Amino acid sequence: MSGIYVHIPFCKQACHYCDFHFSTNLGKKEAMILSLIKELELRKDEFRDEVVETIYFGGGTPSVLNTAEIDQIIRAVYSNYTVVADPEITLEANPDDLSKEQIEELAKSPINRLSIGIQSFFEEDLKMMNRAHNAQEAAACIAMAKLYFDNISIDLIYGIPGMTNERWISNIEKALVFGVPHISSYALTVEPKTALKTFIDKGLIPPVDDELAEAHFHILVQKLAEAGFVNYEISNFGKPGYFSRNNTAYWQGKKYLGIGPSAHSYDGLRRGWNINNNAKYIKVIAQNELPMETEVLSITDRYNEYVMTGLRTIWGVSLERIKTEFGQKFYAYLTQQAQKKIEDGLLYIEKDHLLVSKKGKFLSDGIAADLFLVNLS
Ligand code: SF4
Repeated sequence: MSGIYVHIPFCKQACHYCDFHFSTNLGKKEAMILSLIKELELRKDEFRDEVVETIYFGGGTPSVLNTAEIDQIIRAVYSNYTVVADPEITLEANPDDLSKEQIEELAKSPINRLSIGIQSFFEEDLKMMNRAHNAQEAAACIAMAKLYFDNISIDLIYGIPGMTNERWISNIEKALVFGVPHISSYALTVEPKTALKTFIDKGLIPPVDDELAEAHFHILVQKLAEAGFVNYEISNFGKPGYFSRNNTAYWQGKKYLGIGPSAHSYDGLRRGWNINNNAKYIKVIAQNELPMETEVLSITDRYNEYVMTGLRTIWGVSLERIKTEFGQKFYAYLTQQAQKKIEDGLLYIEKDHLLVSKKGKFLSDGIAADLFLVNLS
């Protein structure tokens, strides 16, 4: 089983914290769609022996496409690849695009999962982040989407400067009122070369407070557990039966094709990444070439990646898999490095799997980094 990720590199406006690849110039939208379709055709042999289980439209803002355009791309997937009978087909969407008409159209399309970029239900947060939607649109689009879609995820951001614990709790409670079965939630991070970084450096916005973010994370974990969500990955919470099949496959190291500018691919051994420039992407594809660079992952890279993603999920790191896939040296290194963390109550072993404890959860990336190998020949 494997997945196809399609990157739609357009947004209506730039959120202050964002460092993803997108352009606010939608002039090349039609040419881009044709190029995405062509890339799907050019790369079909890479998935000759694969069955596609998930199709994921990410971005950027995929909901800037109309349903006919999305359909065109989905049809290109079906005509070039073998797809399971019940694929998960997700569209990332922003609230300001989700009018009643657009949701009704999407409900008639093969899209069967919406991932809505709510981020906050509060006007002050949305303004500070320069989101294109307002608080009223955030609430209205979920209520409308619920009438047509069962499988809905929303994104929420915590640790926003000025966001009190009370406001964060209120955000979570508002999300719960709508009864969405999946929530992805991330701490606001300050990336280099973003407007947010500039504003903080100039003292226009207070810096992000890690302790506040950690407090928000613990509130989130507790509130969502009480509401019946499983924290199946550090930033992802799903009701049973609603875990993202796309993301789960990615964390479990399955193959995926990344289509579109800046999209990443993985074939089990090699990682590839497309050029992150819309005009150059379109030009190279027009010459029937792939605007992609690749690197073969070493066994150490794959070990590090497995430890990182494994520790972020409820499935943990299988010690048996470490032994069989990476060998005795890696197993010995991992168990030895993990020992101190186990004594400190940050990690534990259950049924031959290494897992992060409740105490260690917020720190899981740092814990994983301590278990990384720089090189082991
Ligand atoms: S809508 Fe998403 S991709 Fe676009 S600028 Fe905002 S955060 Fe970035």
